[in-house]
Amino acid sequence: MNKVTLVSGGPGDTALITMKGLKCIQEADCILYDQLINMDLLQNAKQNCELIYVGKQAGKHALQQHDINALLVEKAQIFAHVVRLKGGDLYVFGRGGEEALYLSEHHVPFDIVPGVSSCIAGLAYAGIPVTHRGVSNAFHVITAHDKDDALADIDFHTMLKDDHTYIFLMGLSMLDEIVNGFLDAGKSTTTPIAVVAHATTPEQRTVVSDLAHMIEDFKKDPLTSPALIVVGGVVNLRKQLNVYETKPLFHANVLVPKVGQSSSALSYDLQQLGAKVEELQVSDLCVIENAFQNIHFENYNYLLFTSKHSIKFMMNFMQEKQLDIRLLSNMKIAVIGTSTAKYLQQYHVYADIIPDEAHGEAFYECLEKVLDKDDKVLFPRVKQDTDIVERLRNICDLKDIALYENKKNIHFKLDENDIKQFHFIVFNCSSSVRYVMEQIKNHEVLKDSIIVSIGNTTSATLRSFGIHHFYQANEASYQSIRDKILELWEEKRCIVEED
Ligand code: SAH
Repeated sequence: MNKVTLVSGGPGDTALITMKGLKCIQEADCILYDQLINMDLLQNAKQNCELIYVGKQAGKHALQQHDINALLVEKAQIFAHVVRLKGGDLYVFGRGGEEALYLSEHHVPFDIVPGVSSCIAGLAYAGIPVTHRGVSNAFHVITAHDKDDALADIDFHTMLKDDHTYIFLMGLSMLDEIVNGFLDAGKSTTTPIAVVAHATTPEQRTVVSDLAHMIEDFKKDPLTSPALIVVGGVVNLRKQLNVYETKPLFHANVLVPKVGQSSSALSYDLQQLGAKVEELQVSDLCVIENAFQNIHFENYNYLLFTSKHSIKFMMNFMQEKQLDIRLLSNMKIAVIGTSTAKYLQQYHVYADIIPDEAHGEAFYECLEKVLDKDDKVLFPRVKQDTDIVERLRNICDLKDIALYENKKNIHFKLDENDIKQFHFIVFNCSSSVRYVMEQIKNHEVLKDSIIVSIGNTTSATLRSFGIHHFYQANEASYQSIRDKILELWEEKRCIVEED
């Protein structure tokens, strides 16, 4: 039987969706989503999933609520699993209840996935706990808007308790009325108040003040919706608990070209440090059919890997053909660097040869010392990687296999303004340099961004495009790129602060 699941998408940070919510997105055949959700969540949907935007923007309604209700029922007739994805928790001013009632009245089976609401998580990311022993023993969540988009009928006289926290949603355009409402009702002028905008996202910004000064302070530093307004003593705890906005890369914008389908470990690392990371898909990694035809692993005494993708595709092949891992037991295994070695360990295989530095030259030098003409060497690699092959052929009995191809696959158009918003552009391989540079006609637009290259080969490719103002990571590893960005961002921040 077809069903609808009403799913809470969390407040913004994609990691704050629940496991159940994510599973629903992954399984959905059709998703109706709102403006408030983080659009990156939709990347988890199946390729053939129908995605329908039904969001509202201030003043303009993409679809009226009754149209959304009707659409849900209509789609439930067509698709086995329809997901209705909403921001925060769907029952916290999310009109989730109305949609659930409508489905119930129309006899459409439905499920509810509760979630993380901005009213709690958003404040937490701003360093403000909703309750705190000795400071606040209750919290109130209030909508500032009524049904007709005017200031809701709020009785501020019932909100005078100093040991309660008052949180307003949909209130940014009513900030003055809220502040004056409290003051007129007799709340102390020194009561702490904060506005937290775009909470739990890299754009999060917070203004802290007291009731006497908030209107004035906010004018100096205006924020945009969505925003939370919080009133109460808990705001003072932000001084010590503000861990998110003080992350070292907070407000740094980083562009990371993405090779292959999976998101890189580097992007994750940078995000954990507070950076806003945009991953741009530049290519797909496509396995070449029958690459291992007529290969008998047991006939070789060396196995070389210059990327984790070769490992993954070879292991997939062995698994598919049910080949026992012990077929590799007579081989010494050489990998290009420590991260490739780490990747290999997932398969409980430990590399024998790892050069000190992770680049082609160092890899070759290592191999040159150990290989001789009698060694039978198996080298599954990316099709494009031919430089090292010729050199290896001279020193051993080499069987190189083009196992996969790095195929350009670009769905984006980069214009000047897109590029300028990035503080950093990271290149972690030569192909990403080539694919991105082909998209940018005028390389001048790169001059405001800091370019970081992973290593010698990538740097050489950058130079071949006439790009000379870039930094190179000290070692060819993601960790080293991350450290370079941290170092450069710190310098940039110091310069801005001195100005
Ligand atoms: N169901 C949602 C709230 C929907 S009402 C939830 O549980 O979070 C919409 C209001 O929520 C916005 O006007 C704003 O006040 C607040 N809001 C939602 N996401 C927010 C965010 N990331 N940062 C700040 N406020 C947010």
